[in-house]
Amino acid sequence: MSFATLIGNQHQKTILQRLLRGGQIATTFIFAGPDGVGKRRFALTMAKAANCLTGAPAEGFADDCCDFCQVCCRIDEGTYGDVTTIEPDGQFIKIAQTRELAVEVFYRPREGRHRFFIIDSAERLREEAANSLLKTLEEPPPTSTIIMITSRPDSLLTTIRSRSQKLNFSPLTTGEMEAYLKANFPRPAPDTALLARISEGRIGQATAFDLSVYRQQRRTLIELLEILSDGNNRYRLLKAAEFLGKKERNEFEDELDLLSSLLRDLFILSTGKSIDSIVNIDVAESLRNLAAKVGTDRLILWAEKTDRLRAGLRINLNRQLALESLLLDLAQTA
Ligand SMILES: [Zn+2]
Repeated sequence: MSFATLIGNQHQKTILQRLLRGGQIATTFIFAGPDGVGKRRFALTMAKAANCLTGAPAEGFADDCCDFCQVCCRIDEGTYGDVTTIEPDGQFIKIAQTRELAVEVFYRPREGRHRFFIIDSAERLREEAANSLLKTLEEPPPTSTIIMITSRPDSLLTTIRSRSQKLNFSPLTTGEMEAYLKANFPRPAPDTALLARISEGRIGQATAFDLSVYRQQRRTLIELLEILSDGNNRYRLLKAAEFLGKKERNEFEDELDLLSSLLRDLFILSTGKSIDSIVNIDVAESLRNLAAKVGTDRLILWAEKTDRLRAGLRINLNRQLALESLLLDLAQTA
């Protein structure tokens, strides 16, 4: 992608493009922010702009790339000699990896104009590995840029942070996310709208998400809430608890997250607020009916009890028992 087509984090884009134009990129950057908000994409776009075959000015660098030339394509494929990505080898980034980087960084570009070293998940640099980089980070040679990508900037050594220029990246807004998905992953409008909301502004999350599984889980949970709204149908509730409790732990936690998200949507709808602020916008009508049936007071209670179960899940190993008691408890608030 080029800067022109990247969506979100406009301020960070402006800063990077200004540095490129001024030729002031031989430095160490920390790109900080939650997973999936585009930090790596920004780093690669910067590398493409600096090395793109079209429109390189005599001084400084172009502030965007063409996205089509041989260099842009090879950087996207990960086969360009002047863009190196370092990722954890196993659990950590090891000292052998950083020692190699510390040597490599001083060589002139092999084929392009400027070299880029992207350290992904930089919070997993072991202390000795990080220390071996300090001198390099302080004064990268004029033809190299180091970009450390991390979702946990606070866990980087202070000595690393003080030698780097930090840019904070944020999740995209729902509007930005919809525009991005529409342009890059065309699908039916209700799917795009739903995905933009579920992914909480994280592109990485949106592109890896399986909507059909989500919708299936959601259908089960909405049915469950329908049963609850009808009062105390003990038999059907226990059947539902049995079904949900049999899930693997991760899946069970996902379902509780989804239940919380549905309850939040129902609460919003029960107070008469606009549907724009709910997540499950593609089933807004049936949620609105359900919300009216349950009522705001009961929804608040349900949400509280569900949150309590989520918090207790860490100590309560018997998921099914916990779930049964939650559901019976919820039904009794009818
Ligand atoms: Zn290009």
